[in-house]
Amino acid sequence: MLNAQARLKASSTSRDGKYRSEIVAFGRMLHQRGYVTATDGSLSVRLDERRILATPTGMSKGWLRPADMVIVDPAGRQIAGRRHVSSEISMHLLIYKLRPDVRGIVHAHPSMATGFAAAGIALNEPLVCEVVIGLGSIPLARYGTPGTSELCESLESLIPQYDAILLSNHGVVTYADTLHHAYMKMETVEHFARIALVTHCLGRQQPLGQQELEKLLVARSKYEGHHSGAALPLAAISRFPAGNHLGKAKGPARASKARGENGELGLKERAGGG
Ligand SMILES: [Zn+2]
Repeated sequence: MLNAQARLKASSTSRDGKYRSEIVAFGRMLHQRGYVTATDGSLSVRLDERRILATPTGMSKGWLRPADMVIVDPAGRQIAGRRHVSSEISMHLLIYKLRPDVRGIVHAHPSMATGFAAAGIALNEPLVCEVVIGLGSIPLARYGTPGTSELCESLESLIPQYDAILLSNHGVVTYADTLHHAYMKMETVEHFARIALVTHCLGRQQPLGQQELEKLLVARSKYEGHHSGAALPLAAISRFPAGNHLGKAKGPARASKARGENGELGLKERAGGG
């Protein structure tokens, strides 16, 4: 009996060890890419229905060791680890609660995407086909003080529909069926924010039209469906008239007209967009 228990514990520890090493590796990549500075950001993995492995508070994500991680239960009570859990754990717990398909979460403050979040601009323009396939669109949650119920309240309606969310005046959170996929979504968000910024600098955007978006919707369910429980946001599809190969290009004057016609989807849109 003792041997069986010891074997079970050893096997559980070695499984946990794999996920601890993954958090160390992806934390280091976030730091190397400048997606986090100082002690910013947090990562977690759902080990099973009762245990969530997470980064501790007050440590650089570039210098974590496997033994630094903490384990909490779904109510946020710490059940293992010498260090203290991050105050951002409540956001992770809410995502795990609302999305049974999610097993890994990455939260960071990458400068381009966080710049959009600080400007109050959602990344919801269908400008790049790969982003539409991978993420649909990226909404902007209204501001909530980190570590408080305000932040969770602002995310609650968005989490079931999206896999990546901009947090107003704060940063970005991405989640997926594995930590690896959640990390890749973070890279996609930041890269897309850079591309969107270039279109703003050029003063012109050429969003995909309805027909193209509908084809991407089919492609998304074929290639990405098993990676995501979230549907492609329909808001992006309903924006442009049928029959165009591409949506009409928008320069500065056109953009402000578009905002007037459809304020809920305009570039200046604030919280909850997408
Ligand atoms: Zn943060």
